[in-house]
Amino acid sequence: MIVVLKNNTDKTSYDTLVKWLTAKGVEVHEIEGSMHTVLGLVGDTSGIDIELVRSMEMVDDVKRVQEPYKQAGRKFHPDDTIVSTGDTHIGGGDLHIIAGPCSIESEEQICTVAKAVKAAGATLLRGGAFKPRTSPYTFQGLRRHGIDLLVTAKKETGLPIVTEIMEISQLDCFDEVDVIQVGARNMQNFELLKELGHVNKPILLKRGLANTLQELLMSAEYIMSGGNGQIILCERGIRTFETATRNTLDISAIPLLHEMSHLPVIVDPSHATGIAKLVKPMSLAAAAAGADGLIIEVHNDPAHALCDGAQSLTPEQFSDLVSAVDAVRPIARR
Ligand code: PEP
Ligand code: MN
Repeated sequence: MIVVLKNNTDKTSYDTLVKWLTAKGVEVHEIEGSMHTVLGLVGDTSGIDIELVRSMEMVDDVKRVQEPYKQAGRKFHPDDTIVSTGDTHIGGGDLHIIAGPCSIESEEQICTVAKAVKAAGATLLRGGAFKPRTSPYTFQGLRRHGIDLLVTAKKETGLPIVTEIMEISQLDCFDEVDVIQVGARNMQNFELLKELGHVNKPILLKRGLANTLQELLMSAEYIMSGGNGQIILCERGIRTFETATRNTLDISAIPLLHEMSHLPVIVDPSHATGIAKLVKPMSLAAAAAGADGLIIEVHNDPAHALCDGAQSLTPEQFSDLVSAVDAVRPIARR
């Protein structure tokens, strides 16, 4: 961290600042320029509140030299992390497709969709049991029973399963779940993230509706600092002024996250667009931009889906998408 002092700083303010910084456990090196005095801080600056330093009367500017996401960052971990569940390895250049309904509705529905997406080439099965809905009057998910049905579909197809957790107390329903999803609305549920740091399962961490890439990586850092390094990042669209789509898919997040972090990056074009016909073109764009995977909503009868029917593909449309993405994969390798 570098602190630039105002050029009228008196000796007492200077000494107070240096003493305060030293007490935070860093070494302070002074560089006296012709216009400004600059303090270079050496050591672990993660405990220093940069905004507090910026607000100090004698401080003109302050800059971080190192990113605050040390474990999630690529700087100290140059090789790609590969997150594995069974024989499925996500990251490092391959492209996996997670598919399934927004919500688990019945045994017949989840098993039908599971078999169809497997036949089309999906390597993981998704399905929501605990649903974060905007309205309390809409379908809230089958909760524990939903996870039981998802486990049945896993047994029938052999596909590893992914489902969302909304709070710590639900964790005891997740014993047979292979990948735990943290949804956009809980990306900054820090107590939940801390708890997931102690879980020995991959975590699919979705970007919040209004969160920066740095904030996404800081949320990954919460999980990693607890000891769980198996994280898959997911770009799922962010809120912008555009209303033509449900969210705005930030394709640039894919190469940027790959540069900032060693963690695999997947894309959710279903929630990003909210419109079924946009899911294929956005999947192709994501594949071309180097995504390590896609998560796609598929329903056997989208018109009667209990949640997110408008963005759900039929199994036939999904199969067509997989073939199209397969054609793009070879040119997309980083
Ligand atoms: C989901 O995947 O079912 C979901 C609710 O997604 P998001 O958290 O991205 O809105
Ligand atoms: Mn959904």
